[in-house]
Amino acid sequence: MRSIRDASTQTTCDCDDCPSYALTGHLQRTPDQADRHHQVRAREGWTDLEGRDYCPGCPVNQPEAEHDHAGAWVNATA
Ligand SMILES: [Zn+2]
Repeated sequence: MRSIRDASTQTTCDCDDCPSYALTGHLQRTPDQADRHHQVRAREGWTDLEGRDYCPGCPVNQPEAEHDHAGAWVNATA
């Protein structure tokens, strides 16, 4: 789920029970900054599936029981 506010852009994992989220603060948001936020999330391994967002710990092609819900804390260097 994406929340775009005047001062921030937030992506929250849509997997049930997953607390992961990513937040980018903006002094003054522009469409460019929101785009950049989403591009960084994609590089970190977030998945956008039909408007729902999943963190790197919640691969959409795996059963939920195998998710580690660690998207907010993984070291995304891959
Ligand atoms: Zn997640």
